[in-house]
Amino acid sequence: MEINKRFAVLNGNVLALEDAHISVLSPAVKYAASVFEGLRGYWNASHDQLYLLSLDAHIKRLFESMKVMRFSHSFDPEQVKQWTLETVRAHHHRQDITMRILAYVDTPDGNQGEAGPVNIVVTSTLGGKPVRTGLNLCFSTWARVDSRIMPPRVKSVANYNNGRLAIMEAKTNGYDNALFLSLDGKVAESTGASLFLVVDGKLITPDVSHSILDSITRRTVLRIARERFNLEVIERGVDRSEVYTADEAFLCGTSSEIRPVASVDRITVNDGNIGPITQKLQTFYLKAARGDDATHLEWLTAVY
Ligand code: PMP
Repeated sequence: MEINKRFAVLNGNVLALEDAHISVLSPAVKYAASVFEGLRGYWNASHDQLYLLSLDAHIKRLFESMKVMRFSHSFDPEQVKQWTLETVRAHHHRQDITMRILAYVDTPDGNQGEAGPVNIVVTSTLGGKPVRTGLNLCFSTWARVDSRIMPPRVKSVANYNNGRLAIMEAKTNGYDNALFLSLDGKVAESTGASLFLVVDGKLITPDVSHSILDSITRRTVLRIARERFNLEVIERGVDRSEVYTADEAFLCGTSSEIRPVASVDRITVNDGNIGPITQKLQTFYLKAARGDDATHLEWLTAVY
């Protein structure tokens, strides 16, 4: 094996990454006709094993995204699962990784309304060192896409232009990232993560009908909070002012994991440090993700 050589698994074929091409006139490029999943793999040195977190849930959501976006294909979830495992094995990764499964409409020169042919490509990258410091956020002047416009529940690449506008604005104004309000004025989510508040010992988070992605980490956090820590969890519409007065706030997502929010619109969340409930959820989440907690091994797929 050549060290540092990278691969892509395209419709089940293992290719050198540089050989996984797409036409510049493909609908995926011209019209963002693509949906994807991002997932993480955690290396457990004492198990000598790499675990992919929530692989089945990610693949299920990929198929839901393709359905909503009316992709015409004949893939099945088990096949895509095997391709994902093959991608990691091709790299012999024995470190934390991040992965991307991308489904896209690819014709040499396609129109906006093409339903196929669809390709699925899986890639894998070394994870790098996650940043876990508190975030300084603002409320964006951009609203979150609405299900009457672009369904936020599905993970369509096009939705990320909404997030991009908000990130660019936030960074220009000196913030790390942004929170969105929905078109009906309720708190939605961040540009690539879900939001949770802690108020009087209870967890509060926007429910999935408030213009958010149906986040897999969010579902995991809900389960950990309820089942492991016996916390009351309320999924409901959240007002902007509730974020300013919360005792704790954090973002969660595959990439963010569980990341504390230090301030919003320059208003400090409590004292700006990670709060005790966020801390215990984060500690447990990271332990479970790496396979160091025997109670949630069903969330993990062993690669080797
Ligand atoms: N919201 C948005 C807009 C996202 O892009 C992501 C990242 N996929 C999340 C929430 C978190 O979702 P998940 O936990 O499934 O990664």
